[in-house]
Amino acid sequence: MKKISRRSFLKTNLTAAVAAAAAGPLFTACSNAANVNRKTSLGSGKMKMSFRGVDLQLRHTFTISGFSRDVTPNIQVRLEYDGVVGYGEGGLPPYMTGQNVQTASEFLSKINLDQFSNPFLVEDILRYVDGIAPGMTCAKSAFDIALHDLIGKLVGQPCHRLFGYNPEKTPNTCYTIGIDTEEVVRQKTLEAAPYKILKVKLGVDEKTDKMLVNTVRSVSDKPMVVDANQGWKDKHLALDMICWLKEQGIMMVEQPMPKTVFDDMAWVTAHSPLPTFADESCQRLVDVPKLHGVFTGINLKLIKCSGLHEARQMIATAEALGMKVMIGCTTESSCAISAAAQIAPRMEYADLDGPLLITNDMFDGIKFIDGKITLNDRPGIGAELMTPWE
Ligand code: MG
Repeated sequence: MKKISRRSFLKTNLTAAVAAAAAGPLFTACSNAANVNRKTSLGSGKMKMSFRGVDLQLRHTFTISGFSRDVTPNIQVRLEYDGVVGYGEGGLPPYMTGQNVQTASEFLSKINLDQFSNPFLVEDILRYVDGIAPGMTCAKSAFDIALHDLIGKLVGQPCHRLFGYNPEKTPNTCYTIGIDTEEVVRQKTLEAAPYKILKVKLGVDEKTDKMLVNTVRSVSDKPMVVDANQGWKDKHLALDMICWLKEQGIMMVEQPMPKTVFDDMAWVTAHSPLPTFADESCQRLVDVPKLHGVFTGINLKLIKCSGLHEARQMIATAEALGMKVMIGCTTESSCAISAAAQIAPRMEYADLDGPLLITNDMFDGIKFIDGKITLNDRPGIGAELMTPWE
């Protein structure tokens, strides 16, 4: 008989248990709501989808470990059923390799919704969309958000209510300060006055990273988290930096080491005085069990995981494994950010400052009141398009 070590036995069974936990009915509340709401009697129509590429203009040139940019292209989706319209959006930052307005548009063009006469068949619809092509998670997320927005509007309820989340439990958003000169970092820190938590981008080299933290600290004693964006290549450097950051009052560290470095990262987490969160290492649901024991928690982003539906499975999986969960974003308007905010009540940290960093937000959505993510009672994702859809 083949011997199985205790470790591999636990690992196999834990993974199975986690998969079972994550496979629960996600839209039970929605289905129930559908039964009692007059507006939800199914129309005879089909879902009609359109989409467009939009350039979001950045307030400041944004630099993180690896590159800089002034504009972020986004893909936005409009989904109509029975005269009701849902909107969705996915940012297309350069690090989402191979995903741009052209490839996202090509992907969305392949979606044929004629086969679905019932928009509430979320599982079926999203499984079909996910199966059209691998990757393309930014476009998949834009579609997923539009579908959730549509369903919320059809039943007249905000998504967070359909999910059963307590809107009072949202965290404060972090405000991100990119890698820059001392003067600009100081100015950006002062601009962050309304926000209670600062997120500082690191991962250049030890000297620059310490300068960045010291510069922020010279003008602010607010709670701070840092994101090394895979910048520390050596485990001893990573741990030394984390110990130094602990002394500066930093609360957690995101993606200290390169995304595929697991053994060294597990060593860093085991010795780290601060919680570690996987960002680049964690893309979709399938990644979560692999990260157990490697990081303390995961950073969800809708553009990485294909949208709200899978994000909620990832939350259940991470929680079953005893891992923490945070949510992040890229440069996105109040459309995608309002969608992400619908699951914020389950988050330890939230980095949803996308709309604060752009000058052409075409949606009116969730607000940050004294830095706290504040959900509204609007149906769907809680965002309204303020300019004509062209
Ligand atoms: Mg990150």
